[in-house]
Amino acid sequence: MSEPLKAGRELDALVAEKVMGLRVAGRCCAVFVEGEWSIHPDSEPAGWACYAGIEPVYARADCDCAEPLVREYESPEKAALYAEIDAEREKRQSAAIAKTGHRTYCLRIVPNYSTEIAAAWEVLEKIGRATEIRWHPKAEQHVLVMIGVYDTPGGVAEAETVPLAICLAALEVVRARPTEQETQK
Ligand SMILES: [Zn+2]
Repeated sequence: MSEPLKAGRELDALVAEKVMGLRVAGRCCAVFVEGEWSIHPDSEPAGWACYAGIEPVYARADCDCAEPLVREYESPEKAALYAEIDAEREKRQSAAIAKTGHRTYCLRIVPNYSTEIAAAWEVLEKIGRATEIRWHPKAEQHVLVMIGVYDTPGGVAEAETVPLAICLAALEVVRARPTEQETQK
């Protein structure tokens, strides 16, 4: 028997890919600045302490990273004015593409599916099947989640928390029906 999956970023990335159909593109240094996530291609970008940690990231659905960047300026003077900044940006985006296949602005942080109930609920909504959640305060594994109560095959999982149980049951649903995942976008 393999080790049971634990709640955490590794499991979150697995759920993102297998259940949510997201294009997981590796891990990047992510820094939360002024209410927004800033993603850096390097693990330790110069001048930044990567205090938020290395987070799994995925590419946006409308990714256009395979196409070259085109910047249009109304005048050559304006283009010259921004040349240095553009070169710096280009360098950063090339590094991001080399590491993840995507530019930084295409990348999003994988939600905390296995540890946050709001994110875990998105997983249930994505699967879109009748689900039963049972809470047994005295049991060792407090939570039992059954996805696809009225359908087969479904997924059943026991865990210490609701988000973890949802993730494990959801992975079971996807494993049972691999073709369904392929038909979802
Ligand atoms: Zn992209």
